[in-house]
Amino acid sequence: MSETSCIFCKIISEEIPSPRVAESSNLIVIKDINPKASTHLLIIPKTHIPTMIDISQDEKGIAWELFEMTKQLCEQLPQPASFNLISNNGVGAGQSVPHLHWHFLSGKNIYSDKFQL
Ligand code: AMP
Repeated sequence: MSETSCIFCKIISEEIPSPRVAESSNLIVIKDINPKASTHLLIIPKTHIPTMIDISQDEKGIAWELFEMTKQLCEQLPQPASFNLISNNGVGAGQSVPHLHWHFLSGKNIYSDKFQL
């Protein structure tokens, strides 16, 4: 399912070009257009799911795929890998794109000053 006005759905359908860093059955990974760390990737489900609480039982495989994808992305980092995996859910939590995604960040300790994406 996709939403015609959703920017991530447009990226998934390739209506808007955005090179894929990685891809699996249910996920794509792209670079964040406004990076907050030297590595700032977005892990995005291919179906339009607004937030984490909207995942249905049929889509539960996304959760395991997310962990597998995270491990795969970590293989590209200096070892031992250090990273943050963050999902903003709802406008009040800072979600600006209403299509579920996880920020994969590395190369900066986001807790060293104040927590800020
Ligand atoms: P959030 O604010 O948690 O919803 O995160 C949305 C993220 O999407 C932000 O970090 C934006 O910089 C990023 N973003 C928005 N549009 C694009 C785009 N066309 N390509 C890549 N990243 C994008």
